[in-house]
Amino acid sequence: VQHSRRAFLSLASGLALSGIARPATSSETLPAWLVSYREPSSRLIGAALSDTFAWRRLAELTDTFGPRLSGSPALEDAIRWALRQMRTDGLDHVRGEPVMVTHWVRGEESLDVLSPYPSRVAMLGLGNSVGTPREGIEAPLVVVSGFEELESRRAEVAGSIVLINVPYTDYFSTVGYRTTSASRAGRVGAVAALVRSVGLDGLRTPHTGVTTYQSDGPRIPAAAVSVEDASRLARLAARGPVRLRLVMGAQMLPDAQSSNIVAEISGREKPDEIVVVGAHFDSWDVGTGAIDDGGGCIVTWEALRLMRALNLRPRRTVRLVLFVNEENGLRGALAYRDQHKSELSNHVLMLESDSGVFRPRGFGFTGTPDARDTLESIALLLSHVGADRIGPSGGGPDIGPSVAMAQIPAMSLETDESKYFLYHHTAADTVDKLDALDMARCAAAVAIVAYVVADLPQRLGQPAGTQ
Ligand SMILES: [Zn+2]
Repeated sequence: VQHSRRAFLSLASGLALSGIARPATSSETLPAWLVSYREPSSRLIGAALSDTFAWRRLAELTDTFGPRLSGSPALEDAIRWALRQMRTDGLDHVRGEPVMVTHWVRGEESLDVLSPYPSRVAMLGLGNSVGTPREGIEAPLVVVSGFEELESRRAEVAGSIVLINVPYTDYFSTVGYRTTSASRAGRVGAVAALVRSVGLDGLRTPHTGVTTYQSDGPRIPAAAVSVEDASRLARLAARGPVRLRLVMGAQMLPDAQSSNIVAEISGREKPDEIVVVGAHFDSWDVGTGAIDDGGGCIVTWEALRLMRALNLRPRRTVRLVLFVNEENGLRGALAYRDQHKSELSNHVLMLESDSGVFRPRGFGFTGTPDARDTLESIALLLSHVGADRIGPSGGGPDIGPSVAMAQIPAMSLETDESKYFLYHHTAADTVDKLDALDMARCAAAVAIVAYVVADLPQRLGQPAGTQ
């Protein structure tokens, strides 16, 4: 998608004329307590949608620093850049909070068919995988259609490079093949494990992602091959013997020093009560981590920047947390929980964006029925950005550990995810896949939820009239 700034501004001002200038929802349909929030909400929407700032900031981040794998110099340089930008934005208490992160490096890698006829396979090693010896591993290929066949053909699998060729259905049903195949194949004697990429059919694009070794089993190298290559390998193997050579320079290095990025709009009345919004700042080392999850970082950051620019300071503190090491360690999420243990009970709400910043639909929410009622009312303010749906469950990997420890109400930004798993963890995860107006809508939606929840006279989930 190309973004013509003029076309964008005329679209945005068209929206302003058709809706934003008018009250978003007539006062008759809003609960009385919500009426005073209509005006600041309209200002937040107007400020977000009249500019392409969010998209341009994401483009600058991803064009300049590229992918931000934990342990990489690019991640640390990007963190320093973000901290500088946040200070320039005028946010409060901008700081890095130290985290030791996983430091895995991919190295050089390749997968070749040696026979029946030489050819190269489109592949990506899986994150946290061990490497091969320098000269690689040469072995016959065995293709299986799942774990049952892996077990039933274990005699053939022993000594082979096994491809676990399971078609993608949806992420959560299929991702287990990526995370567990190396251990399962290793246990039946395979010398390396290949998985069919976990993602929508693309253009011969392999998808990386983390793999996990069971502590008691052998650690064999693991890689994903593109959907097209998985199908071709399966056809070749059905015709006769296939021999492969896998070379992976992957290495796990000692943990590296990094930081979660934290910034705030300090509350004007109850600064110790906190609404957290956030996303993860690290990414895989292919593509530029624009969709996963640079966009989530920028739209949650925008919530604070917009409040600051409009001089909106809610009663409670709104805190932005950009976590590190979500992809291959989750250390940022764990460090936040441990470093903020004593104040987790003062966390009123945690909101995460890690499903892309496409056209927003609303938010998932997990919490009490009373809190849900309040959020469903607040969502009335989001109809003009199309984000007024409050779905049955919310949360995310980075807020998860804190939410679980202190039973904090949890939200996740929900967007049109139809293309998310096309780009997820691939070289095609770049900013041009995202639309500036959709990002602006996401930013406005996050800003309004964060502002209103932080400003309510009563704490979210408490009856009105209580403090
Ligand atoms: Zn992510």
